[in-house]
Amino acid sequence: MRLLPFALLASLFATVPLPGQRLATDSVRDDRAFSFYSRGPYRAGIPRPEQILGYDVGEMNTQFALQEKTLLAIADAAKDRVHVEAIGSSYERRTMRLYIVSSPENIARLDAIRADLDRLADPRGASQAELDAIAARTPAVVMVNESVHGNESPGFEAGMQTLYQLAASEEPATLDMLKNTVVVLNPSTNPDGHERFTVWYNSIGVRTPDTFSMEKDEPWSIQGRFNHYRFDMNRDVMTTTQREAQTLVRAMLRWHPMVAIDQHGQVTTYFFPPTAAQLNQNFDQSFVRWMEIFGRANASAFDRYGWMYYSRDIFDFFGPFYWDSWPSLNGAIGMTYETDGGGWKGILWRREDGSIVSFRDGIAKHFTTALATIQTTAEHHAERVRDYLAFRQGAIAAGRTEAMKRVVLVPGSDPGRAAELVATLLRGGIEVRRAKSGFGSARAHAYADDAVCSRRFDAGAYVIDLAQPQGRVAKAVLEPNAGFDSTFVRAQLARYQRNIRRGANAPREGYEFYDVTAWSLPVTFGVEAYWTEDVAGVDGDLLQLPAEEPALPQAQTSARLVGGELLPVDIASGIAGGVARRPQSAYLFSAERNGSARLAYQLLIEGYRVSSATRPVEADGKSWPRGTYIVRVARNDSTLPARIDALARESGVEVTGVNSAFSASAQYGIGSEMIAELKAPRIALVGGDGVSQTSYGAIWWSLERRYGIRFTPVAVRWLASGDLSAFNVIIIPDASGGALNGALGKEGADRLRAWMQAGGTLITMGGASEWAARENVNLTSSRLVGAGAERDTTGIPGATTDTAAAKARGREKTSDRSQAQDDLLATTSPSATNASPVELAGSHFDVALDRTHWLTQGYEQPQITVMMSGSSFFKLSKEGANVGVFPKTGKLYRAGFVWPNNTERLLRGTAFLIEEPIGDGHLVLFANDPMFRGWWRALDRLVLNAVLLGPAM
Ligand SMILES: [Zn+2]
Repeated sequence: MRLLPFALLASLFATVPLPGQRLATDSVRDDRAFSFYSRGPYRAGIPRPEQILGYDVGEMNTQFALQEKTLLAIADAAKDRVHVEAIGSSYERRTMRLYIVSSPENIARLDAIRADLDRLADPRGASQAELDAIAARTPAVVMVNESVHGNESPGFEAGMQTLYQLAASEEPATLDMLKNTVVVLNPSTNPDGHERFTVWYNSIGVRTPDTFSMEKDEPWSIQGRFNHYRFDMNRDVMTTTQREAQTLVRAMLRWHPMVAIDQHGQVTTYFFPPTAAQLNQNFDQSFVRWMEIFGRANASAFDRYGWMYYSRDIFDFFGPFYWDSWPSLNGAIGMTYETDGGGWKGILWRREDGSIVSFRDGIAKHFTTALATIQTTAEHHAERVRDYLAFRQGAIAAGRTEAMKRVVLVPGSDPGRAAELVATLLRGGIEVRRAKSGFGSARAHAYADDAVCSRRFDAGAYVIDLAQPQGRVAKAVLEPNAGFDSTFVRAQLARYQRNIRRGANAPREGYEFYDVTAWSLPVTFGVEAYWTEDVAGVDGDLLQLPAEEPALPQAQTSARLVGGELLPVDIASGIAGGVARRPQSAYLFSAERNGSARLAYQLLIEGYRVSSATRPVEADGKSWPRGTYIVRVARNDSTLPARIDALARESGVEVTGVNSAFSASAQYGIGSEMIAELKAPRIALVGGDGVSQTSYGAIWWSLERRYGIRFTPVAVRWLASGDLSAFNVIIIPDASGGALNGALGKEGADRLRAWMQAGGTLITMGGASEWAARENVNLTSSRLVGAGAERDTTGIPGATTDTAAAKARGREKTSDRSQAQDDLLATTSPSATNASPVELAGSHFDVALDRTHWLTQGYEQPQITVMMSGSSFFKLSKEGANVGVFPKTGKLYRAGFVWPNNTERLLRGTAFLIEEPIGDGHLVLFANDPMFRGWWRALDRLVLNAVLLGPAM
């Protein structure tokens, strides 16, 4: 499953049957009347899965190599119907393959079909008659994706039965599916996570249905939901930071699915669309109609067995980063299916009513919906292909007529980061050009401050015109603020209004946000951007992505690895790196690029002496901003010139040689007292129970892959007993404050304090910061807003409302008014208060930076945008430095959902980033996860400054 809201997840475990309770017999199992082989006759000579596996599907979890062997054996015996494509590999080097299944006639002309699909996907330049002819002869493409969450394993098993059915059956309905569709089966989206789960589960499972059993409780280091780097790949589709997601998006852009199903688990009863109300505004009603068609078909397939299921309810369709919404923004009907049995529920699971749901049940149901979806597509194939074409054409037309027509990205002071953003867009099939000469716009909207004015852009700016076949997906990931579904927003506000009138101990109604509500990529990457209402001519070719991520980057001629990221050579060549001239005195490089931190780190661990200017300095008549890194010739050995040049090229950083330490006019030169000598960081990254897997994973991936920074993973409990002096930097990712408190207690906090007093730098994020601010822990003089028993009634309804909520309400004023009054509780409880922040679902706000503090070196703009989620707002530190603060006045809100009379009122004047000096060391406290999902790049240098500069300051 995507991840249930916490309240719901807790209720899953609320009722625990007594041990020894009567085991339900097989006679009440869902799959008692189900066979995988009821849709024959079947062709001889094609092996059934159990013949290769040695057991029936559903008896145990299948390891990757055995699934691979089974699928390849079936494909090999049915070459007339199955074409196999190896498309890439996982981080742990498991081969990812697509099984393309269709009729022998279609398989024989697969290249021609692919050419036709390319034409439909990019209809520009073809006449409508030509396109209609292509559409009429093209089968509809259905993609089936299995088990992106590796511990939701029924899909992984169902894939083998689905392939067998399509490869072997002579049933007329199956033959009709083959004739009218091309099925693209991806049997394992997350091979590494699935394997971790499977090997662990098989090693410990005893087939008990007891829900509290150890076999239903994966250890922290297993958690097969995530991939190797502990990314949730069902949040990575718009950014494709991960290798597996890159591979599959590339496959989707090659096969152009018109229907794409993503098979998950383990909910209480099966879920399939239509989805919940929150729909991304870049979809139209045609999409809703198709969800109804598929929903009815699945329902009727389930009703045959009397199986339970649900639709709508909690799974929304708002963020463009899922494996259902992203393909849908490409023109497919993307749908998430969630099965009940199996996966982390194990082979058997006892429901609350005592009945049993099994792994085989979960597999049978995915098999059934996969076939029902393929069959429904076959029955509607002509209409589906035409609608797909119409979607692509509509995207181009919308890019010409809607107000937002173009996005312009300005490379600015960190061209490497802008290039990473461009590479991200290119991986998603979005067309980007780089302007060869300057151009203008009469109405350009600045992302930074919403100002609208006429503007000139220089050569080198990146241009994304939304009048392109990928225009819908381009708009969804680039628009500064996604539009809300007004019905959904009204429903949440009504709950909120009721909640804040309730007594202190009365239960609250939950909210239905499924994930973050803001994600605009220029903002998360911190790249200067504009959207324009006009499209002046731009001279510049479309940029090309290198064909494939190569095993050895240096062997690739069309690409260059810069700062760990593979960039097309035509972009990478624009990022100068290396040493301009060999100096007498020192090498200097500015801290404004993300790559500069990488370069400084690599020099430090190779043993070179590196220092940092804490004030602006002058060298050879040129002034350098504070944070400039200085590598002195006389203090390093003769290997420095060659190494710094090579490392600077790898990092995409321009290094300047200076010949004199003399400062002609400025207060400080490069020999100044204001220069800090850096120490090589020795870093511990804390994981284990209580630490967020995805926060840990994003830091792991960023440090290892993007910055080449080494660290030692340590468990939370190690902090309570280990020798902390082995490290000078410890990072605790977002975590449960309660779990940290339980594992460390006051004694653990005191050990960390003593280590900081001796010079250590502790970095805490999100929930770990909340822990640091607890009274008993007291590592900071900041406390949470609402933590005390404050009385505050200013948020009680009747006052004014703000931003997104107000806009949504404004759209339908009259109906809203009467409805809202009916919904309100008649009484406001005497203990009602609105003094604590209400949970935020990932919204964007501005933060003012203290540009005299070392943590902000390399940031020369006065404010920066961050994401806040949850309800932990940090009051200003009384004794430390409040380095990043949500401004008391002026612009605060940027994007996403906020609660009227609560969020902005309580967030203003609180801290995002605190530096608490403790003895010779520091606590660096982030209110949230600054490297969130690897898609926040704008805040990397704040974290890297803490790592690189903390031990020296
Ligand atoms: Zn899932």
